[in-house]
Amino acid sequence: MDASALDIPALNLRFEGASPETILGWAWRTFGPEIAATSSFQTQSVPLLHMIARVAPEMPVFFLDTGFHFPETLAFRDRLRERFGLNVAALAPEDGHEAFRRRHGDLYRRDPDLCCFINKVEPLERAMKGMRAWISGIRRDQTLHRAETPLVSLGPEGRVKVCPLAGWSRRDVWRYLHEHRLPEHPLLKKGYLSIGCAPCTQPVADGAGERDGRWSGRQKTECGLHLTERRSVKTTSGGERDGV
Ligand code: SF4
Repeated sequence: MDASALDIPALNLRFEGASPETILGWAWRTFGPEIAATSSFQTQSVPLLHMIARVAPEMPVFFLDTGFHFPETLAFRDRLRERFGLNVAALAPEDGHEAFRRRHGDLYRRDPDLCCFINKVEPLERAMKGMRAWISGIRRDQTLHRAETPLVSLGPEGRVKVCPLAGWSRRDVWRYLHEHRLPEHPLLKKGYLSIGCAPCTQPVADGAGERDGRWSGRQKTECGLHLTERRSVKTTSGGERDGV
């Protein structure tokens, strides 16, 4: 189906309160095989990965391999891939990790938006060429920025974004994990509530917000994948790229 033919408001009304599996199944039947999911392979990613394994195991699951992940995250990704039989593909920056480090060093300190753009936004855009839909596991209760996340939306590039867990709370995630006896990321018990790249992730105290340990001490709360507004990013080579 042509994405422009979808009645997005009607779909959001229809799916509000529906189970994530129902929404995921609709997305796969409507767009498969031109649909992919993204996952950061942390504890709160596990329910959606478990559902993908049951509803659409052949769906590609893209992992943004920035070269800055904790080794525990890479091991957890491999463990989940094997256990669930997922079709995982790692996406790296265009010139590879070594070239990035040589050219940009600790760019995450100086310009984290540009670092996220080169390591996450651009690789995903490349991988999504030709895809009609994108599945993401973000939830409205994670941050203020995500509070209005629709279940189904149409991106500026004409691609449909589906967030089957948008209406879930952190409690729903835990209920699902316990019901299905699913594993936790090994760093969770050390206080890492949300886990991204190692240089930009801190453990948090009890009672902190789920994403408070991400880019701690900065205004930044998003890597750019889930920002709807787009702007130009100045590159270190002096040029400009359409980006976060
Ligand atoms: S999270 Fe940090 S290290 Fe990872 S891509 Fe973004 S700025 Fe770079």
